[in-house]
Amino acid sequence: MNHRPNPPEAPPGRPYRGRLAPSPTGYLHLGHARTFWTARERARAAGGVLVLRSEDLDPDRCRPEFVVAMLEDLRWFGLDWQEGPDCGGPHAPYEQSRRIRWYREALSRLQAGGQVYPCTCSRKDIRAAVAAPQGADDEPIYPGTCRPGFGGRTGESRGTSARPPCWRFRVPDGEVIEFVDGRLGLQRLVAGRDFGDFVVWRPDGVPAYQLACVVDDAAMGITEVVRGADLVVSTARQLLLYRALERRPPAFYHCALVTDAAGRRLAKRHDALSLRALRAQGRTPEELRAGWESAGEPIPQL
Ligand code: GLU
Repeated sequence: MNHRPNPPEAPPGRPYRGRLAPSPTGYLHLGHARTFWTARERARAAGGVLVLRSEDLDPDRCRPEFVVAMLEDLRWFGLDWQEGPDCGGPHAPYEQSRRIRWYREALSRLQAGGQVYPCTCSRKDIRAAVAAPQGADDEPIYPGTCRPGFGGRTGESRGTSARPPCWRFRVPDGEVIEFVDGRLGLQRLVAGRDFGDFVVWRPDGVPAYQLACVVDDAAMGITEVVRGADLVVSTARQLLLYRALERRPPAFYHCALVTDAAGRRLAKRHDALSLRALRAQGRTPEELRAGWESAGEPIPQL
């Protein structure tokens, strides 16, 4: 049954604040544009503000030329924002790479509360311990090897390697995490079944997406997060972080994903559908958006 999209409203007493949170790890494609356009439409409909945040934490994948391209492509597409790396604002800086101390503070708080534990398992160890990734999310459920109390141990990470640990958030196994999505309606995910203990801090000292995103959305007063439907499971993880950090979560609106002719979600491999390439082919933003504005679930025109 289709859920009627909720109108974009901020909670009483809080003006609507939405955000665009691109990662400069490659060129933006039509899928990003589609989600961001929805974010823009919802912010406008609510008479609210849109914040641009550059999620540039991953030093291996983010490149300065992608930052430049990202801003240029978003503007070309017709997006505008009232706060961001290029225009400043009350919550500056708007680049995650410049906000590390807030993430560190949040990590310390989680550590002090015993909600995270160090883990030295490699991806390979985890893959070997679990049969197959669960659910739609492509991350296998962490088997609990380094979890305090797992197999009679007391919290010391088992690894004998000198590998620095990552920090994992311990999820409450069996708890149902519920939220009412603005487009999809009631969502129910079970901790420990739909997702497991997740990384909040990487072994190389880089804060993980889940933590940085929650810290920033809370700090920047975001009232509604508009993101792709591939992130529904991450939203459930993030709701646990909001609770652990005692911050009020925003509302959520998960957009349909743009797919290619074969029904696959757009990814970096779809170079031909990057905004740059489409622009070079002489396509206009209006033309690209043509199928999106009709009621219901818009069919992307590729
Ligand atoms: N930087 C993330 C991405 O591009 C943001 C996801 C989100 O909206 O939270 O996938």
